Amino acid sequence: MKILAVGRNYAAHIEELNNEKPEAPVVFFKPDTAVLRNNEPFYYPEFSNDIHFEVEILLKIGKSGKHIQEKYASKYYNQIGIGIDFTARDLQQQAKNKGLPWALAKGFNNSAPISEFYPIDHFGDIHNLNFGLEIDRAVRQRGNTSKMLFSFNEIICYISRFITLKKGDIIFTGTPEGVGPVNIGNRLRAFIEDQTLLDFEVK
Ligand code: MG
Repeated sequence: MKILAVGRNYAAHIEELNNEKPEAPVVFFKPDTAVLRNNEPFYYPEFSNDIHFEVEILLKIGKSGKHIQEKYASKYYNQIGIGIDFTARDLQQQAKNKGLPWALAKGFNNSAPISEFYPIDHFGDIHNLNFGLEIDRAVRQRGNTSKMLFSFNEIICYISRFITLKKGDIIFTGTPEGVGPVNIGNRLRAFIEDQTLLDFEVK
């Protein structure tokens, strides 16, 4: 199982980080050791002082494919969930300043808390889903999948030109605006429409 993630996929989030709008999806990996399941607590790592939350809709790949055409892309994912793309923003900024890869800033242990997965249409029309994140009961991020720069199908089509997607792979599809730091003691609750899918603490 591999985890692929798309960066810079919501315009307002690109603006808040002063990034440029990409001409193609910005794609990176997280290793399988990044996964944190079952609402287990996230332990703040010692190598960073600026861990940021990014709530994102997840797709799970249902059958293997490469060079997938956009019009067939929806046949290749069959489950949906929500996750946090934890980012060591200080390490990422150092890497960006030097033009170096983000691997450690994005792929460290437990940097990918993920929910249970549900059938793809469980929450309604996947191209118009509300989702978001509360911290200590205050809403910090709200997004709608209709605002993605690159749609789910475009993401699948694009990535599969380079990398074969296999059953069980997970794709993080980008975060809306509102990202910010977490602190020890915070409680994070992520939701799609009115259903809570993630609820865990930072320790
Ligand atoms: Mg992200």
